[in-house]
Amino acid sequence: MTSKEIQGISFFHLAKKYKTPLYIYDTSIIKQRFEQLQKALSPIPHKIKYACKALSNIHILRLLNNWGCGLDCVSLNEIAIGLKSGFSSDNIIFTPNSVSFSEIQQAYEQNITLNIDSITALEKFANYYPEGKCSLRFNPDITAGGNSSIQTGHKFSKFGIAKEQINNVVEIIQKSNIKITGLHIHTGSGISNPEVFIQMLDTLCQLSKKFPHLSFLDIGGGFKVAYKKDDKFIDIELLADKIVPEMKKISHEYGRPLELWCEPGKYLVSECGYLLATVNQVKHNGERTFAGINSGKNHLLRPMLYNAHHEIINISNPDAEKKTYDVVGYICEEDTFARQRNIEKIREGDLLCICNAGAYGYSMSSNYNSRCRPAEVMVYQGKDFLIRQRESLDDLLRNQDFDPFASEL
Ligand SMILES: *Cc1c(COP(=O)(O)O)cnc(C)c1O
Repeated sequence: MTSKEIQGISFFHLAKKYKTPLYIYDTSIIKQRFEQLQKALSPIPHKIKYACKALSNIHILRLLNNWGCGLDCVSLNEIAIGLKSGFSSDNIIFTPNSVSFSEIQQAYEQNITLNIDSITALEKFANYYPEGKCSLRFNPDITAGGNSSIQTGHKFSKFGIAKEQINNVVEIIQKSNIKITGLHIHTGSGISNPEVFIQMLDTLCQLSKKFPHLSFLDIGGGFKVAYKKDDKFIDIELLADKIVPEMKKISHEYGRPLELWCEPGKYLVSECGYLLATVNQVKHNGERTFAGINSGKNHLLRPMLYNAHHEIINISNPDAEKKTYDVVGYICEEDTFARQRNIEKIREGDLLCICNAGAYGYSMSSNYNSRCRPAEVMVYQGKDFLIRQRESLDDLLRNQDFDPFASEL
């Protein structure tokens, strides 16, 4: 799945220079993915809005902005980080769920494209901004995506406005002067079948007939990438071959061209990322051999949270015979990166590389067990750059290092 270097820089060099555990991002892969998607969708007007919850380091965001990408944000802080990294507000879409109306207002007043996902929020929006413009997120009742916790488009999901409530929506709009400029669906993560997106476009097309002021249809993200050899992944060219004629047809029916928007997270940044860790301990416990590394689910939660598969390579012993290991982390609780996995023979001190760690890796990390988060490094145009410092004990203490009884003295 990977070589032992990025753009000519060896993992060993990076581990030595920055220490482990360490997140590394190969920005050439992000660029490649972005350009591939741009090219595939080039026959139709389109915008790519990177879903930055996948990996929100501002230096990565800055590059994506330079390359001409837009941004999909789910919190006010993501918007702030996006603006700080250079995105203009009109290039950002805000798709929150279960947030206070004040959060929606704060985004709107910064000129961010709002994607409203509930009837009551729409009512409040129409009251506050009777001339306002926004987009609507619908729940299409489509079950798609890798596993149940990342499926967001089915009937029992908390996301979006149920499409059956379309008449309520139209009523609210007709009572005010608000304009709906876009319609949105995001059905989940890890979708490899292009037909799911065609189904979504079909739903969006039917809904579009009720909204005369549209400028875009947004099919969300969720494009599946391969996590292991022979894994299914979405074929972007095939996807585009299906979407392009469909969008042309929809635009024709609608009477003018509608832009296609999409919001890939994982697709752009999963494969660019690696988590490097050092083996602290090799332990033989009866039936099993455990390789314990200097990282844990506090750094990469996906294996424990989703039972996700991440390839693991022994960088220090690449040509050795493979043996079977449970690769485990240092968190004092169940903490397993891989079960019964065949990996090149592991010795204490070896450097392991965990692949596909770019998306939902650092961004889901925590300080559980009072452990510090790793540093982040990006390799850009053949050079390595530190883009986030390793945390220290001071960072853990920052918000509690005062005397709560001081005011009583
Ligand atoms: C998380 C999310 C995405 C990105 O999903 P991926 O599977 O990472 O592509 C896109 N749109 C919205 C609204 C999201 O919440």
